[in-house]
Order: sequence, then C-alpha cells, then structure tokens
Amino acid sequence: MERSFAREVEALRLGEGDVFHGEGILAITKALLQSGVGYVGGYQGAPVSHMMDVLSDASGLLDEMGVHFEASASEAAAAAMLGASINYPMRGAVVWKSTVGTNVASDALSNLASAGVVGGALTILGEDYGEGSSIIQERSHAFALKSTIWLLDPRPHHGTMVDLIEKAFELSEVSHTPVMVEYRIRTCHMHGRFRCKDNRRPALSKTAHLEHPEFLQDRISLPPSTYLQEQRKIDQRLPAAIEFIRKHRLNEVFDGDLDDVGIITQGGLYNSTIQALQHFGLADTYGASRIPILALNVTHPLVPDEITGFCAGKRAVLMVEEGNPDYLEQAVNVLLRKADLKTRVHGKDVLPQAGEYVAEVMMKGLGRFLETASPAGYDSGGIDATLASAMAGKVRAGELLTAPVPKRPPGFCTGCPERPVFSAIKLLEKEIGKVHIAADIGCHTFSTLPPFHLGNTVLGYGLGLASSAAVSPAFPNRTVSIMGDGGFWHNGLSSGVSGALFNKANSVLVIMDNGYSSATGQQYVPSSGRNYQAQPTGMTIAGALKGIGVRWLKTVETYRVGTMMKTLRKALASKRPGLKVIIAQSECQLARQRRIKPAVRKMLAEGKRVVRTRFGVDESTCTGDHSCIRLSGCPSLTIKPNPDPLRQDPVAYVDNNCVGCGLCGEVADAAALCPSFYRARIVQNPSHWDRWLDRLRRRFVYDPAIPPADAR
Ligand code: SF4
Ligand code: SF4
Repeated sequence: MERSFAREVEALRLGEGDVFHGEGILAITKALLQSGVGYVGGYQGAPVSHMMDVLSDASGLLDEMGVHFEASASEAAAAAMLGASINYPMRGAVVWKSTVGTNVASDALSNLASAGVVGGALTILGEDYGEGSSIIQERSHAFALKSTIWLLDPRPHHGTMVDLIEKAFELSEVSHTPVMVEYRIRTCHMHGRFRCKDNRRPALSKTAHLEHPEFLQDRISLPPSTYLQEQRKIDQRLPAAIEFIRKHRLNEVFDGDLDDVGIITQGGLYNSTIQALQHFGLADTYGASRIPILALNVTHPLVPDEITGFCAGKRAVLMVEEGNPDYLEQAVNVLLRKADLKTRVHGKDVLPQAGEYVAEVMMKGLGRFLETASPAGYDSGGIDATLASAMAGKVRAGELLTAPVPKRPPGFCTGCPERPVFSAIKLLEKEIGKVHIAADIGCHTFSTLPPFHLGNTVLGYGLGLASSAAVSPAFPNRTVSIMGDGGFWHNGLSSGVSGALFNKANSVLVIMDNGYSSATGQQYVPSSGRNYQAQPTGMTIAGALKGIGVRWLKTVETYRVGTMMKTLRKALASKRPGLKVIIAQSECQLARQRRIKPAVRKMLAEGKRVVRTRFGVDESTCTGDHSCIRLSGCPSLTIKPNPDPLRQDPVAYVDNNCVGCGLCGEVADAAALCPSFYRARIVQNPSHWDRWLDRLRRRFVYDPAIPPADAR
C-alpha cells in the first residue's frame, strides 16, 4: 500500500476522555467505532483511499470488536452491503470516491433508499471536486435529491465531524433512510483533535449473531411495495428527518453584529468562508465572524424554518454553494418566497457558477457580495483596495517571471511498467498508421497526455473495452482497448470481456496487470495474490479470461518493447476472428520501489553488496533530436546543455532518479534509434572480486572523466 497506518491506528483504541490527534480520515474511522458500527466496506479512490488503508491496518481491532470489514469488489458491491441494515438493526458504513463511485453504486443505493433501513446505514463520500480532482466535475447532491438519501456536509472541524457521524447513524435510524456524508479532499487530510468516547461493540455483528432471518414484503423493492415506499419517503421519513435535524441542531448558527445581512454556507465550506471574511476584517483568527453564518452540516433535507428564521430581518444573504446546479440557492429562494420574506439571495451572481471555491475565488465573491449588500456598520468602500492588496503577491510574482512557467501535465512515474506499452503502440503506429484506442481509468489514462496522446475516449472505470463496441466495427482495422487490472475486476470482466465475447467482437484488448490498484495507492486487487487478511486468493486474470472463453491470449512482460510490438502486430493482423487479449504484466514501479528500498537500505547498513542498474546517455554520441524522450516520457530522461561548444542542441540526459527499468535501452533498440544509451551497474559495498575487476577494466578503458583507480 502507498501508506501504512499501522502506527496511527493505535489511536483508534483511545477511550473516554482521551484526546485524539490526527488526520480527518482517522477521526472519521474512530467516530464509526464510537458509534457501534457493525460492518464496514468500500472501494478505494481519492480522497478516501486512505480510509480503506486505515480500515485494513485496523483489522486486528475490528476483529476484536466483532466488526466485519470487507474490501468490496466495487462501489456497487459496497452499497449492496448496506442491505444488511434493511431488515436488521445493524449499523453499517461504506466508503468510496464520489461522484464516480456513486454512479457505480446508484442502482443499489436507489433500492436501499426505497426499501428503507432499520439499522443506521452510512455512505462516506470522498467528494473529489475541484483542483486536484481526477474525475468528471459533478456533485453528489444530485443523488441525494433523486433517491431521497440524506446528505451531510460537515464543517471541517474534528469534534463536529465526529459528533455528526454518531448523529448520522441516529438520523438514519429515526427516519429509516440511508445517509451520505461528504468530505472534500482537504477535510480528509486535515489534522486536528477531539475528545474521545469509548468504542462501542456493535449489538449485532459477526460475533453477536442474529437469531433468525427477517422477511417483510414491504421492504422488497418491487411493486406494489415500491409505491408504498415512495409515499413513506414523503409522508414519514422526510418529516422525521427534519424534526431530528432541528431538534439536535445539526446545522449551526454563528451570530454576528452585522445582522442585516448573513451567510448561508455548506458546512464543508465554512473554513474557507471564515478565511475570506478575515481578509475584510470581518472575522478573527479564532473564527468569530461579524456577519451571522448558518453552516449547513446537512444539505439535504433543508429545514425550512431554520432557513426562514435565519433570513428573517435580513436584507440580503450570501449562499456559498460550490459546483452546479445551484440546488441550495434555488431551494433557499423557494423557501423565502413561500414564507413571503423579501431577503435578497446572492450566490452564483457574485461567486462562479462552476469550479472549486478556493481562497481567491471566495475572497473575490465575498468582496462583490459586501459591495452589493453593503452591511450597515461596515465601510464597503475599501473592498477593491483589500482585494488588490491580497492579490499583490500574485501580481508581483507574475511581473518577476521572465518566461511563462512550463506546463507540467501529470504522467507515469519514473520506470512505470505501463509506459513501455504506449511506447510500443507509438512505434507500431509508425508502421501501420493510427489506430482507435479506447482508453480506461487508471494510471494508464496518462497515455492520453503528452508525450503519447494515445487514447481517443475515456468512458469509465473498466469500460475501455465496452466503449469500443460500436466504434470498432466502424473501422476497417481492429481497434485497441486498454484496461487496468483494477478496472478488469471492478467490472471490465463482465461489462467488457463477456460482452465482447457474447457479441463476437473482433478487437484487441490490452490489460495492464501491474499487481495493484495503483492509481489509488497500491491497494490489493483480486489478482494481487492475497487479500487484506493476508489469505491467498488464487485468482488470476488469465484464469478468469480462459474461464469465460477467451482463446487468443498472450502474456507479455511490459518492458520488452520489441516483444510487445510483435504481439500487438500479430493481434491486429491475425486472420482469426474474435477478441484478442494481451496481458501486459510487470509490477507497479512505485510499489516495487517502496517494497525494495527498505530492504536495500538494510543491506547497505549491514555492509552487504548491493548492485543497482542505471541507464545513461553518452553525450558525445547523442545527436540531440530527443526522439527517445518523445517515445518514453520518463521524468528521469531529460535534457542538459550540450558540453560540446561546437554543438547547440541540448543532449539527452538520465538523472539520478532512474530506477534502471531498461525502457530507454529497449526503446532505443526497438526503434533502432541511436547507440547513445548505455547501461551501468552500480556496485555498493563492492567485494574484493569487484574491486579487482574494476582495476583490471580501468587498464583497458580510457575515459578522461574517470580517474584511474589508483589515483582515487
Ligand atoms: S503508480 Fe505504478 S502503475 Fe501508476 S504510474 Fe506509478 S509506477 Fe506506473
Ligand atoms: S531506464 Fe530510462 S525509462 Fe527507465 S527509469 Fe531510467 S531513465 Fe526512466
């Protein structure tokens, strides 16, 4: 895994009165344990990948408490787990990245929300929205509205977040409705403290068994029950939820003396709102605001009289709501009009319609609101000057730049085993022309960026092959689809491969088998060989493919660029109809380095001999055309000034981060590129034999850059 929480999970054992200090993700996990959760599951994805890692590292504690933990096969499987709470008073929580995970889970979520629950059922959503996000920009709010699932958006404050998890379980049980709790990326990784309670053993669990199965017709999502369930959502569950939210004050009001105006904010944006207010002298460093704030820790459902009560007597309010559509702003307007209140609602008129509300955006939006609403007792004449002074640093930085900052698109890691596959495709395209490539989600999506620009569409996780279904027959030549091992097990096997076999598709599929769910932090997938309980799985991609009838199947080590080209050439030209699958296999280099580096460090400390491989470029041979860089894109392969004063072009250069994967040499060889690349073996803690051999070699090799052995 990307990160071990083995030490931090000890904090999950803290008891009544102890002070917890740590990351948001851990605080949420502690809150689940304090709430008597009986089962937990989920699917990895930023910003909540670490929560799956925490749960896995805490499996000892979970076992002691009788809490069942499962690394679900997909978000749909995780959502379906919550079915345990439909008939039984078991508290359960599942976690995934949203909105993509919620898309995958939406069938099970709809059914769960329709049937209703008797045990508290929570979904922890990592709301991957805004700068740094890796997915389509949408809001989870839409799912809450359409399925009648309550949505919490807690204020980023450890104590508040922990309390709200406990309250979310109660809300779910009181209103018989599942609850989603969304956390943005900064909240997940924010550090803070709170006073703990004892962990609660679940009343029902894998160690405290149920006595008998429950069957109730009205909890089956099938007509006529679904008609009744829909009515109950409106007649019973919604009023019960509103009453609970009001009674337990899940939303927070912060008073201020400039009370002819106010701010209503999503709980998750409370801290950014305070920060923006500070710029205008309207809040202190402890968060005390002069403008009253209503922080909506629950964004669905809204409590009508909380909104009207807050707005009554105010000339204007600012609705701080990130993303679009502006569900909350519309709802607040409707509530105010129905209550015949004349309060003016600002929101997307002063803040952007779309995009993350980062500090600068918040500051500008608040500035425009203050100018427009002009709170009594506040001099809004200095808004422009405040904005200009806050932006002065950025303006000055721009002035100091003598040249534009080069763009740094994300890319494969140094030595990534997926890069050679795309180098092979690029080289092959020189022979056979362009092919349509259906890309997929995973590290391999970087192929769509420079220097490869390979991949014509991306439709979803594990959907590479399925997305080629209609486009493939439209081309005279075969198309190529890409899929990762994570995507393969997530749904690629069923939606892609089985669909292609069933429909007799005649295309080529490349499956990247790097051993982990790498893009999310090297979590295990079924073909990793073991599960989180360290039990062998015995599942292989090749075994699954053969089992459902794939006949043309080759496994190629990814770093063998020439072999990969040959195999792809055969797959594209084969006279045999049907799906051709190439399993491109090599371990994720990041995981490999994390695995071997501690072992190497230990060997060096013990004085043991260690040999590592490095590649390099002979600068006197390098012509400076840089086609090696264009065919590789490895961050370690870069340029430096030409040492030859008679030549202008910079030469290629391999920096010290090279992990010696060998791709450079392979590409140079497969492309018949140039003889500049050399491979060096660096021996640390050399043996007597190594030293003797070195001395011998130096007698025959002359390099002015290397002093003779006896001169050192
Ligand atoms: S995490 Fe692994 S698979 Fe992903 S880009 Fe890095 S080396 Fe490649
Ligand atoms: S051998 Fe080449 S491709 Fe591999 S890590 Fe080193 S510089 Fe990068």
